Amino acid sequence: MKRVHNFSAGPSMLPLEVLEKAQKELPNYQDSGMSVMELSHRSGLFTDIITQAESLLRELMHIPDNYKVLFVQGGASQQFAAIPLNLKKNGKADYINTGSWSKKAMKEAKKFIEVNEIASSEDKNFTYIPASFEVDPEADYVHITTNNTIEGTAFCEIPDTGNVPLVADMSSNILSEEIDVSKFGIIYAGAQKNIGPAGLTVVIIREDLIGHASAQCPTMLDYQTHSESGSLYNTPPTYGIYIAKLVFEWLKDLGGLKEMQARNEKKAALLYDYIAASDFYHSPVQEDSRSLMNIPFVIPNRDLDADFIKAAQEEGLETLKGHRSVGGMRASIYNAMPVEGVEALIVFMKKFAEANQ
Ligand SMILES: *Cc1c(COP(=O)(O)O)cnc(C)c1O
Repeated sequence: MKRVHNFSAGPSMLPLEVLEKAQKELPNYQDSGMSVMELSHRSGLFTDIITQAESLLRELMHIPDNYKVLFVQGGASQQFAAIPLNLKKNGKADYINTGSWSKKAMKEAKKFIEVNEIASSEDKNFTYIPASFEVDPEADYVHITTNNTIEGTAFCEIPDTGNVPLVADMSSNILSEEIDVSKFGIIYAGAQKNIGPAGLTVVIIREDLIGHASAQCPTMLDYQTHSESGSLYNTPPTYGIYIAKLVFEWLKDLGGLKEMQARNEKKAALLYDYIAASDFYHSPVQEDSRSLMNIPFVIPNRDLDADFIKAAQEEGLETLKGHRSVGGMRASIYNAMPVEGVEALIVFMKKFAEANQ
């Protein structure tokens, strides 16, 4: 069977074990004579799937009892609107602008709330995470993007926002390392990076933040709707939830987030160390702000980018093209990327450097 090393930023690779289990169960799930896609979302079999998915996620992330886990649709982008619509009280919110996704979140929030950019790294093309900022104690929430998928930066420390709820877009680094959920008011993530297939969005929300949506908030964006119904107000993305459950089981079998963090640190260190040692490649990101998940790198002679991408593809190393705003290359090495994939990439990078130096 042909399988490439897929470095896509999203949708990204899934563990082969998960795909194979899904394949085996596809036409006849648990002797129902149906696939999961064909099961009623109100059936006992699907109830078991969604219940297990939630309890596995709670176990993996040590989610405290006063938080709800919601499985919704619309992607992380839909949450950009849902957050102000649900949390608006004083009518203003603080945002830390660390890249393209933060900017999109701010642009959307401005439709509903006064947005104050309390820190930004735009002055240096988002190559670092701002170290200091002041939270307005009257702000309804503070929004951060914990991992900047496009720019390859990440918050190494979760900021302390006092009594103001911290809201985090964790789309591209959820489940990649241990975090303290109790520091957050809301964590949200589109599934297609580190959880499962596109179409599912996970929202982890402190209970006291539910039930305050503004009157104009659409029913489907009101967290209370999904909280009260156990994410079954309407038809949820059933197959995506099933695959997420398989991914959660895979993570648990491997040893949970502690083990994932160790693996991710090892993979990222291999690549960063090689880039640092090479005089051919260069990391555009400030050292103390580097992501474990998305690693951009550039070749000073930009004319070689297209050759690099093409030659890599010929060796089964896919989707390494950097985002147009950064240029160069980007290796996304989420949980499902084995260390062998990173090693294969480094072998190729050495070969390419030697041939083009
Ligand atoms: C991919 C991504 C998004 C967009 O997610 P959608 O599910 O496509 O809306 C938002 N924020 C971050 C950090 C991302 O990586």
